[in-house]
Order: sequence, then C-alpha cells, then structure tokens
Amino acid sequence: MPILHKNTPLVLSKTYSERLSAKVWFKMDANQPSGSFKLRGIGHVCKTYKKEGSKGLICASGGNAGLAVAYAGRKLGLPVTIVVPKTTSQRAIDAIEKEKASVCVNGESYQEAHEYALTLTSDTHRYVHSFDDPLLWEGHATLVDEIHATGIVPDLIVLSVGGGGLLCGVLEGVARNGWGTIPILAVETHGAHSLASALEAKEHLALKNITSIATSLGAKKVAQQAFEQSQKHEVIPHVVSDREAVEACLQFAKDHQIIVEPACGAALAALAKAHPGTHQKKHIVVIVCGGVGTDINQLLYWQHHLPPDSMPLANE
Ligand SMILES: *Cc1c(COP(=O)(O)O)cnc(C)c1O
Repeated sequence: MPILHKNTPLVLSKTYSERLSAKVWFKMDANQPSGSFKLRGIGHVCKTYKKEGSKGLICASGGNAGLAVAYAGRKLGLPVTIVVPKTTSQRAIDAIEKEKASVCVNGESYQEAHEYALTLTSDTHRYVHSFDDPLLWEGHATLVDEIHATGIVPDLIVLSVGGGGLLCGVLEGVARNGWGTIPILAVETHGAHSLASALEAKEHLALKNITSIATSLGAKKVAQQAFEQSQKHEVIPHVVSDREAVEACLQFAKDHQIIVEPACGAALAALAKAHPGTHQKKHIVVIVCGGVGTDINQLLYWQHHLPPDSMPLANE
C-alpha cells in the first residue's frame, strides 16, 4: 500500500534562532499533501482499516481531519463520506469535494455531526477519529522518527494541542526513539485551553465552550491519554492569545512564504514570547502542524479586528 504522508523538511528558523540564542528548527508538516500533520496518523488508520477489509471511510470534520481522510481514501481507492456541521464554510466543503469525497451536511454543531456520522458506520464502513485513537498516535509518531533520523537531538519540542492527538503521537515517538526525557511545550490558545485547564485542576474536565478563533484546537476535552501522559512526562502547558497566534502566523508567512492556521501559530507564538521553557536550550524543534482553514486575508482581518492583548480575555 502507498505511503500517504511525506517525510517533511527540518528547516532552521533564522528569526527565532537569533531571538532565542538557540538553534530553532521547524518541522514543516504544513508541507503534507493534505496541508497538515493529520495525514500521518489518519493515513495509518485508513491503511489499517483497508487491510482489515473496510470498504469505505466515515469522518465528522469540517477541517484538516476531514481533508486528510478524503485524501487518504482517494489514494487508497476507498469511498469517503465526510459529515460536516451546518456552520462549515463553503471553502472547506469545496476542498473536501476536490478530493472526491462526498460531503454530508448534518447537525448544528460538531457534536451533532459526529453523532450522525456514527450512525453511518458499520463493520465495512469505519469511523476515523481525529484525535483519540492509538492507531492514529502510532502514525503521528513518524514525525519524531524523521527528526531522529536527521541526527539533530532536540532538548525541547514545541507543539500545539487541540484534542491532544499530536501530543500523544509525539510522546509515543520520543519513547520509541529513546528520547523519553525531552520536555514538551504544549501550546493552546485561550478559549481552547482544554489541556492547560485540566492539568491545572488535576482533573480530566471539559471547557464549557470554545471561544478561540483557532477552531482546529477547539476540543472541549482532550483525549484521556493526553491528560494522563502529560502528568507522567515533562509536558509544560502554555496558553497564548488569539492575537499572538495570528501575529506568529504572519511572521511565519513573511519568513517562509507559507500560510498556516492560528492553531499552528499558537506553537510559534510561544517562541515569539520566549517562554521560560525555551531558555538555555540548544536545539528547539517546533512542529509546524499547518492547516488549510485560513488564508492571508483572514489573518490580516484578525490582525486588525482582534482586541489588543491588554484587554481582559473572554471566558475567564
Ligand atoms: C488537528 C490540528 C491541531 C490539533 O491537533 P490535536 O491532535 O487535536 O491536538 C493543531 N493544528 C492543526 C492545524 C490541526 O489540524
């Protein structure tokens, strides 16, 4: 079966290396064919399902997970149905349809779309979860295998957290490469900070609602595994504002000519602020997780319309 994800480059960031007096490396998963790291885990899940006899794939997502399943299904020759809630943009629907998947609009929210999608599944038409599945984490872990193969040994890994699938995958990757002691700076935007608030409360709780513009981070509750593993490993939770995430996306666009979502900008924003976890490090690797849900006009709009950071944050 074809390998669906690409081995992505590890690029030195001149801007942040100078600012932090460390070598700051960007793991460029924005370069994946589906535009985000999601293809790693999702590609692995879809291939496994096909081997196990699946004749079709179902997923609820108006975002990068839906796009990754659509891409994987097309490459594997499996029909794909993506259920999206009514709030999904036409742009996102068009992108999924370009991958030849059928889009089914159902439900007022992601939760309702998810519940409807589950009714479409069967032994031969399996559901692909966007963050909470051990098979998915096993696929995401290839990210760390590739970093390991470059010979660069990070003393800090920086990444974004939504439902925590990427985090679980990176934790599996560092463990299987003998790198289990590398600390991980786990960044969320305020209003999507489900990991930070659960860790602070020492309880696997859910946010009441999502108020961040970084919709790809908008899981009210992280995966149980993400919550548990974060307490066993040195995972440093960190929360940035939407504005900081957007500014970091614009800086990244300037430096690398690539547009990423604020969900990805969150991890970059932790560098802009020189989080204490970045002090005295030699090699910092930042996972540039990507995302295709945003364009340059949207980033500029947010830059002009989001409140300044001195204003009190909502949802507090
Ligand atoms: C899915 C996604 C995330 C969050 O990943 P989780 O595995 O849910 O934590 C972050 N950024 C982008 C661009 C995503 O698509």
